[in-house]
Amino acid sequence: MARLRHNPNPTMHELSLADGIVRMVEASAVRARFTRVSRLRLEAGALAGVETQALRFALDALRPGTCLQDAQIDIDEPPGRAWCGPCGSEVRIDSRADPCPRCGGYPVRVVGGADLRVVDLLVLEP
Ligand SMILES: [Zn+2]
Repeated sequence: MARLRHNPNPTMHELSLADGIVRMVEASAVRARFTRVSRLRLEAGALAGVETQALRFALDALRPGTCLQDAQIDIDEPPGRAWCGPCGSEVRIDSRADPCPRCGGYPVRVVGGADLRVVDLLVLEP
């Protein structure tokens, strides 16, 4: 992967995303009556605009005292995928501003790798 490693200090952006994830999991815990999560799997696509290291750092800062306290947190980083009309193919892109790497066509339509979402939650029975 050719992604640059940035400063791991979370910005307000990653902090608010992490806060949203923790709140969502806590709300699920209340609804589904569990208290501890053993594993949380997230997906942060390459085009989601999320710095993964910073998100991890922010989650670590926010999770003490929550059901995520001792959870293993995995973050998948699927690559950006886009559909290019001119050459009729699905291609991989690293940024939303990239032209088609195959034909140079532009713009391409993003079809994947643009989401931040919870993929999976493994809970411990009380
Ligand atoms: Zn193309």
